[in-house]
Amino acid sequence: MTDNQLRLVWIYPDLLSTYGDQGNALVVERRARQRGLDVARLDVRSDQPIPTSGDIYLIGGGEDRPQRLAAERLRRDGGLHRAVGNGAIVFSVCAGYQILGHEFINDLGQREPGLGLLDVVSTRGEGERCVGDVLGDIDPRLGLPQLTGFENHQGVTHLGPSARPLAQVRLGKGNGTGDGTEGAYNDTVFGTYMHGPVLARNPLIADLLLKLALDVNALPPIDDRWYEALRGERIAAAQQPA
Ligand code: GLN
Repeated sequence: MTDNQLRLVWIYPDLLSTYGDQGNALVVERRARQRGLDVARLDVRSDQPIPTSGDIYLIGGGEDRPQRLAAERLRRDGGLHRAVGNGAIVFSVCAGYQILGHEFINDLGQREPGLGLLDVVSTRGEGERCVGDVLGDIDPRLGLPQLTGFENHQGVTHLGPSARPLAQVRLGKGNGTGDGTEGAYNDTVFGTYMHGPVLARNPLIADLLLKLALDVNALPPIDDRWYEALRGERIAAAQQPA
């Protein structure tokens, strides 16, 4: 972070923003401002270059065709790679998560190269689409409470050796590989299948992104527990028999 300003970049709202994923940018922005940070939020459309000097980049989910277009443009642009090389934090959801991996299956049924920023490969699930509420235990190393989210994807994501699962599902499919893993992360790049938007349901993940970007172990506490009611409601709903 330079000039005491946190630069938040929301990538391609015109292509990738299903299920309210743009809420993730709102939550990070708000929780940063509540800590007194000066935040510059930049929404970058797919015909604009990705700035390389951002601190946190957010990328959402999308339908299969916009996902292919987004992958093509991000590969051609190269800015996100440079930003990660500069130490930026990236948080991605669903289609965005698949794009950050090595490859995924596109809307034409072909193998589409991703950005290779996460050591994952996505294939097309042969079974039913993964749809519904998800509950999971986040990797204990991250010190975060239970994960709650909503998934809707056909893709199945396999983790390579340098990616750690973000969570283990108690309910739902997550990566869809049958091993109970959900999402993936390395030191600075995170991916999840969770919509919701996931950072509104799990604001302490937003705080984790802020801590990583600011390179601090703790943030000033904020008296803001609005999300507990939302979390409680969604966790209870997920546990109702179908
Ligand atoms: N098109 C991808 C899939 O179905 C991602 C869907 C999404 O982002 N919701 O796997």
